[in-house]
Amino acid sequence: NVAPNDLSAFWMPFTANRQFKKAPRMFVAAKDMHYTTSDGRQVLDGTAGLWCVNAGHARPKIVEAIGKQAGELDYAPAFQMGHPKAFELANRLVDLTPDGLDHVLFTNSGSESVETALKVALAYHRVKGEGSRTRLIGRERAYHGVNFGGISVGGIVTNRKMFGTLLTGVDHMPHTHNLAENAFSRGLPEHGADLADELERIVTLHDASTIAAVIVEPVAGSTGVLIPPPGYLKRLREITKKHGILLIFDEVITGYGRLGTPFGADYFGVTPDIMVTAKGLTNGVIPMGAVMVSAEIHDTFMQGPEHLIEFFHGYTYSGNPVASAAALATLDTYKEEGLLTRGAELAKAWEDALHSLKGLPHVIDIRNIGLVGAIELEPIAGSPTKRAFSAFLKAYEQGLLVRTTGDIIALSPPLIITESQIDEIVSTLSGILKTLE
Ligand code: PMP
Repeated sequence: NVAPNDLSAFWMPFTANRQFKKAPRMFVAAKDMHYTTSDGRQVLDGTAGLWCVNAGHARPKIVEAIGKQAGELDYAPAFQMGHPKAFELANRLVDLTPDGLDHVLFTNSGSESVETALKVALAYHRVKGEGSRTRLIGRERAYHGVNFGGISVGGIVTNRKMFGTLLTGVDHMPHTHNLAENAFSRGLPEHGADLADELERIVTLHDASTIAAVIVEPVAGSTGVLIPPPGYLKRLREITKKHGILLIFDEVITGYGRLGTPFGADYFGVTPDIMVTAKGLTNGVIPMGAVMVSAEIHDTFMQGPEHLIEFFHGYTYSGNPVASAAALATLDTYKEEGLLTRGAELAKAWEDALHSLKGLPHVIDIRNIGLVGAIELEPIAGSPTKRAFSAFLKAYEQGLLVRTTGDIIALSPPLIITESQIDEIVSTLSGILKTLE
């Protein structure tokens, strides 16, 4: 169980991985809240893998369901044929998601779910005879995966700039009026509705009849835990409804209990027309995504035979039996252990623990919602070196996995975390922050 010597064949195109190749950090096993490293150490998982292992690692029910399904029916074609587990899962998801989201399209990842949602939105307007609605609106600093649709509507300029061809007709709403007063980061309540009104400005600029959909993460995770100010999502819902624009929530991170409610839509009391999910759907064990759509969207497609021509979409692995079985066992586990609301029960302890780090050197902001947290550190003036990355390396050495994005340390532990493990995370980070240069 040692790391292989030759790491050259696996291309991981992220800068930090150059460093990784010199000093590889490998996990070889995982159980519940902990990873085991290739040098035999235990590492507390402060990030649920990549925001996905919500029920903790190697949960017996999920492992067993996968093995059983693989031995029983490993694969069934996704076209013309079906199998019971995908239908059962679709029904379960309709029951679990907010009322009004009544149909499910299966995918294999968050990026594919985003792509699917954007295609559904564009095709929906065409099938309805509103083919002029071709524009899409995303938000600055949004992350919607790495496929072309996702990087086009996503708000990360560096993820787009390498590629000449992207979706055209995309606008990005600002996530703040003023970076010095970042309403998302610092939760300035008075900015909620007027920030959302930036959408009105874009709508007026282009004319509502040209706009197909608006896509937002209820809480942006990967770009540093950006929590919308109160009233923001409600106002987006009002504006989109008024203009016949579809509202898409990308719940790849916020779905399946992360905020202490089943979905972000539940937390904020706002139901979108399309909801994009993945990650926690199968507890991260098997790639799978699910896109929930309203009955109105589904029924519009089903009105005539032309939907078959207008909307060709589906993947070889859509609703794969083994993935479906994993998702069903995951949903059972969440239910049996009350994990979809566990984040709400722990929210206060989580908040108190994180905010005890306030005032430590370089800490300029601490944010939390459900079982998500962010510690924003002061950038090192004139240097690309990030203190957060140094903190990540130290934490790993000391047996804690955190995630960093720019100057932000992000946390999103499995929902099975105990209060004493929360204290462990915070005391490890506290020690590190005190000594960080
Ligand atoms: N949307 C959001 C909001 C995400 O956070 C992510 C992944 N972090 C994605 C989409 C892409 O998911 P995947 O990596 O499974 O393609």
